[in-house]
Amino acid sequence: MEEIRGSKIIMFPLPFTGHLNPMIELAGIFHHRGFSVTILHTSFNSPDPSRHPHFTFRTIHHNKEGEEDQDPLSKREVSAMDLFALLSVLKQSYDEPFRQSLAAEVSGGETVCCLVSDAIWGTNMQAAAEEVGVPRLVLRTTGAASFYAFASLPLLRAKDYLPIQDSRLDDPVIELPPLKVKDLPTIVTKDPEELYRIVKDMMEGAKSSSGVIWNTFEDLERLELMNLSRNFQVPFFSIGPLHKHSEDLLSTKTNKEDYAVTSWLDKQDAKSVVYVSFGSVAAMKEKEFLEIAWGLRNSKQPFLWVVRHGLVPGVDLLESLPCGFMESIGNKGKIVKWANQLEVLAHPAVGMFWTHCGWNSTLESICDGVPTICTPFQTDQRVNARYIVEVWRVGIMLERSKMDKREIEQVVSSAMIDKGDGWRERCMALKERADICLGKDGSSSNNLDKLVTHVLSFDS
Ligand code: UDP
Repeated sequence: MEEIRGSKIIMFPLPFTGHLNPMIELAGIFHHRGFSVTILHTSFNSPDPSRHPHFTFRTIHHNKEGEEDQDPLSKREVSAMDLFALLSVLKQSYDEPFRQSLAAEVSGGETVCCLVSDAIWGTNMQAAAEEVGVPRLVLRTTGAASFYAFASLPLLRAKDYLPIQDSRLDDPVIELPPLKVKDLPTIVTKDPEELYRIVKDMMEGAKSSSGVIWNTFEDLERLELMNLSRNFQVPFFSIGPLHKHSEDLLSTKTNKEDYAVTSWLDKQDAKSVVYVSFGSVAAMKEKEFLEIAWGLRNSKQPFLWVVRHGLVPGVDLLESLPCGFMESIGNKGKIVKWANQLEVLAHPAVGMFWTHCGWNSTLESICDGVPTICTPFQTDQRVNARYIVEVWRVGIMLERSKMDKREIEQVVSSAMIDKGDGWRERCMALKERADICLGKDGSSSNNLDKLVTHVLSFDS
């Protein structure tokens, strides 16, 4: 692709898989359009540059030499257990080092046409961009419905929906149909005020930016995007699903484990396998993990289950499976530590996705027409799950609070045997809508053209 002369874009992702993946996909899209891309990234949980040879990577270090022993991020794992505390430390630790790195990039010769930063980095990134005279765009890596719910948190607090009271869990949130009180995007955290501070900063950061890029598509969230754009008054570009723009943009290098998964899937009947994964951050108790293990086994359906390190913090999960469990599932189930999810969902043997409803997983399953069993854990996942079940009607809810082995067995086997209540057909129809949005003259393609024009206009 011919380079657009002097047009370098700097990107600054949040260092979590669910945020990093879409930023890298967006980087691929910009590169494809002729921009050169530099990715500034944190030394905490940093990406692997060798997988993305088209981009320049620069590591930002957050501690000075000799200060490693006082590092609040050392030995810290990405885990849902203290996500907002971790976010807080990240935002503080990288503020000044980011400013310095951005200033160094801008004074480095090549013209920088804009910065694209994750929405969660917030207002400090805006200040840093203004200091060096570079316009800043925001990438929001979740859907518009959940962002609208986040934006409504101050109102919902004023109306006493928050903090959530156990007696009101099933009450409807009149202001945000079809959400119930238990769907509100909160998190159990030691310092609930931190959540509100981070969300407020994210909203103000988006409002002061030169535009928001969305990993969603208009046919999926038209109303929610319209509601948000009335409040934000900055240009919106909904160009998703990002991972589908061009299959060749994706760095899906397949490794030995991926081949083993594919060859196991190849031996299963079409649409017979339940793929089970709760993303890169979700954490659960050992008791829940064991209920899932027995529920899956007892459902007698073939399953592929991602048991990630850290899913139950501090426990070696494969060790904690009861003696004889693996033998009892035989070839019916496969357990892996990580899967190439895009490849798995695209495989014809996969008939159902039991997911935590992270936004990437939600979009990825819709794009492959795979209906879902929804077990949301926190933040936006509950909003996504409610939309999956009640708005798009492409899945069923299996709440964590009700997740014992009998319920799991019943939900999994009936979803696979009865094939749901038209979920698959509706999911295929959504997949087609996504394809249309991404196709020639589709809304995501047109919005991408507008985004490129917008970015090039910064130069003039
Ligand atoms: N993912 C993957 N393999 C796995 C589990 C997850 O490739 O075994 C990818 C998945 O395709 C998605 C991302 O990790 O792109 C998870 O993002 P999501 O928003 O679904 O959830 P999060 O991890 O942020 O909670």
